[in-house]
Amino acid sequence: MYIKDTIVAISTALGEGAIGIVRLSGEEAVQIANKIIKGKNLEKVPSHTIHYAHVQDYHHHQIIDEVMVSVMLSPRTFTREDVVEINCHGGIIAVQQVLEAAMDAGARLAEPGEFTKRAFLNGRIDLSQAEAVMDLIEAKTSKAMQASVNQLQGSLSHKISSLRQKMLDTLAQVEVTIDYPEYDDVEELSSHQLLTTAQQVKAEINDLLQQAQHGKLFREGINTAIIGRPNVGKSSLLNVLTGYDKAIVTDIAGTTRDTVEEFVNVRGVPLHLIDTAGIRQTDEIVEQIGVTKSREVMKKADLIILILNQSEPLNETDIELLTLTEDKNRIILLNKQDLEPVVTQAQLEQYVDKTDLILTSMTEESGLDELEQQIYHRFFSGNIQTQDVTYLLNSRHVQLLKQAIQSLDEVIQGIELSLPVDLIQIDFTRAWDLLGEITGESVQDELLNKLFSQFCLGK
Ligand code: GDP
Repeated sequence: MYIKDTIVAISTALGEGAIGIVRLSGEEAVQIANKIIKGKNLEKVPSHTIHYAHVQDYHHHQIIDEVMVSVMLSPRTFTREDVVEINCHGGIIAVQQVLEAAMDAGARLAEPGEFTKRAFLNGRIDLSQAEAVMDLIEAKTSKAMQASVNQLQGSLSHKISSLRQKMLDTLAQVEVTIDYPEYDDVEELSSHQLLTTAQQVKAEINDLLQQAQHGKLFREGINTAIIGRPNVGKSSLLNVLTGYDKAIVTDIAGTTRDTVEEFVNVRGVPLHLIDTAGIRQTDEIVEQIGVTKSREVMKKADLIILILNQSEPLNETDIELLTLTEDKNRIILLNKQDLEPVVTQAQLEQYVDKTDLILTSMTEESGLDELEQQIYHRFFSGNIQTQDVTYLLNSRHVQLLKQAIQSLDEVIQGIELSLPVDLIQIDFTRAWDLLGEITGESVQDELLNKLFSQFCLGK
């Protein structure tokens, strides 16, 4: 595919970083950059070299910034086009001025994800790899990052391609069988071939989906609710988990406190803490409101941490919360162990399974190791370290895989009902097409645009 214009964008995160990068890609990347660079003729330098220079305003030739410029010529670049990267030093204003200078000199501001889109359109990466770039940018833990890197290197693509190849081989065999009708049992033989492959491919897709369960948790975090009546130690736990100094990093004055999101990393497991704003508001919330709120929060939670205060008798709210969480994935902390005990374990036994109960003291930070261990074991059966998170599937992948399974099921049913082979082939081919959409081999333009527009600007 031929893409004409040269695009430009700021590739680094906007902020007070020491260095900001303005990146150009396209046929005229070098010529355009050359118009604003002073002190070096970029059209004369070898590919993949970096040079000290100055950037100047396109119209008035005023110096904007002292820079290092990399020139990378097609095709050994991210987009497979000519790429120029200008490393600016002068903070955010300079980066923006350099961007504007490049636009004045003839480059067009890139749309979000357009660099990656070009990499895809020029055949440098496939669609699942392009999505991995996006995941890499958003990766919240190192495990998720590692899986994105794997995917970027093509692990999902390889897997899908090998499944599709297997299906294609089968389709070819069926064609051959049908073309040589000297066999008496053509229909039966073909059906058998289709059935075997459909079953094998279905099993492998199911494996992939299984892995996706973990992938989703890594990607989005485990939705975790910390509940309990006032003063039991909820915000103390929150502080221990997030680290005292971090508080609410995403809390910007004026934004609704309800949307504050916090992630903590427990032994490589990302927890997405729900409603931390509610917890941090230590105002005298009436207990009943507390319960109503807890109900709401609980609905969204994959994991509930219910805190009780062992230094005071259990009250109605405690019992209500214990009952409400009965069937949930919950961990109960019997907190304030450093104080005189009032509530005993024996007393709790009618409500709580012993394995769900952990004795803690937030002030002495005891019992927290056990809590972390519980979380870790619950979700990953204790082997997260060795678990290979090779595939990170997003919801688009999962949907396509499920649809493919549906088509394969139709193949299998069709064969059981002895439908004619050419009808069965239609479903089989549809499954093959659906898998192709994952890697972008059979994907429509509209979808492409939608996908790439989710990228950050400059990627
Ligand atoms: P929340 O209302 O549930 O968020 O409870 P807080 O975390 O604000 O704690 C209420 C009070 O209990 C604070 O003064 C904490 O310092 C104290 N607290 C929390 N956990 C413990 C604990 O394990 N032992 C003792 N002695 N005090 C605790």
